[in-house]
Amino acid sequence: MEIQGVGGRRRRIILVPFPVQGHITPMLQLGSILHARGFSITVAHTEYNAPHPSTHPEFMFHALSDGLGAGYDMSFDKILGAIYIMNERCKVPLVQYVENQTACGEEIACIIHDNIMFFVDAVATRLKIPGIVLATFSASYFQALTSIIPRFDAIFPYQDLMLEEPLPDLHPLRYKDGPFQPTQDNDIPEPIRDFFRITNDIRSAVACICNSIDYLEHSSLSKLQTHYKVPFFPIGPFHKLASSNSPTNLQEEDTSCLPWLDSQAPLSVLYVSAGSVAVVEKHAVVETAWGLINSGRPFLWVVRPGSVHGVQWTEFLPEGFQELVGDRGLVVKWAPQRRVLSHPAVGAFMTHCGWNSTLESICAGVPMICQPVFSDQLVNARYLSDVWKVGLEMEVIDRDVVERSVRMMMKGEEGKDMRKRVVDLKQKVESCVEKDGCSYKALNELVEFISSLHHKD
Ligand code: UDP
Repeated sequence: MEIQGVGGRRRRIILVPFPVQGHITPMLQLGSILHARGFSITVAHTEYNAPHPSTHPEFMFHALSDGLGAGYDMSFDKILGAIYIMNERCKVPLVQYVENQTACGEEIACIIHDNIMFFVDAVATRLKIPGIVLATFSASYFQALTSIIPRFDAIFPYQDLMLEEPLPDLHPLRYKDGPFQPTQDNDIPEPIRDFFRITNDIRSAVACICNSIDYLEHSSLSKLQTHYKVPFFPIGPFHKLASSNSPTNLQEEDTSCLPWLDSQAPLSVLYVSAGSVAVVEKHAVVETAWGLINSGRPFLWVVRPGSVHGVQWTEFLPEGFQELVGDRGLVVKWAPQRRVLSHPAVGAFMTHCGWNSTLESICAGVPMICQPVFSDQLVNARYLSDVWKVGLEMEVIDRDVVERSVRMMMKGEEGKDMRKRVVDLKQKVESCVEKDGCSYKALNELVEFISSLHHKD
């Protein structure tokens, strides 16, 4: 279907992603989904972590001068500052770009922005163009935030002995699953509280799109809809609904792991990755390394350069690591994750439980060992282990626990049961994107909704 505007041209949607991998990927996938439904797509992106236009020749790309530049060091302690800089600096360039496009006769249907790029709301309001928020994370995390933010003072700081206690009104979450990274005294500093208040306020947005599935997160989605009072469109998993599977990775994939996987027995390999942002303590990865060595199982381990505190890449690996594991272990900097997860040799995923990784693993029918690091990962891990029961919670990271968890998942009864459940869940989730499935219907509603939007006068 062509969504035509004045003069028979397709109506254009402008997408503004937040420039980290886990947010860029779903935004580009959303672009592919909406392009296939007849809209023209422009990605208005920062210079920092700019997507590669050649991977999506069907889109227009426009770089916004972000005040950071391409080589900015977005390490964890600098990310908050960077977010405010981008939100300040990108405002004027986006206004100018949209005004130019409109002057050239483009009919802009709406601007869809990542909730972290909150400046877009002011731009959309000023230009009288409808704004829509994209939530790239789980609805359960989003809902937990909306519930906790007004209760910051009642919940924080909490005592250590409450870590295992349920978070009031947030079943199944415990204090320790709270979607923040509290300080050592279990508090949330004021600047972080402010950040969550700002990014969770959808302001004048007319709707919210979620990379979620009503079947999976019905309760959280309906609470969000009641709270925000705008339509929510759960049209996930995006990667299953996007007709083109154009690459979205910012980093170069090491595909040498694919022939290595070909040489491994079915369901024998543990895939290990902590995603694109998390930085972990050296102690934790050393223990993980020993757990993998002692488990005796084949593994493919993504160690992103800079992902371990105080270490450039794999210098933390125990002496003699390669001799100890031989051909049974492969370490790479960045893997083609979706191809890895769908490889018949992969039997389980030790994951940080980022939302994209969670959905990709469910859709590949691969059970998980949960090693969350911070933020939404803690909530996702709890849902994986306690609600969907397709993930094994790893309470502490020491070599014995890692070894036991790997053995249990790869060979034990618990692992077998979990694999059965995840294969069942995969089928259910995949049926959601088929004709008449809940995500498919939500997408039709979204297309109709966007088509009916008009500039606000
Ligand atoms: N990813 C990948 N190769 C890797 C590690 C990660 O392609 O070696 C991709 C993964 O498939 C996912 C994204 O990077 O789509 C990570 O997003 P997620 O939400 O799981 O975690 P984040 O990086 O945001 O913490």
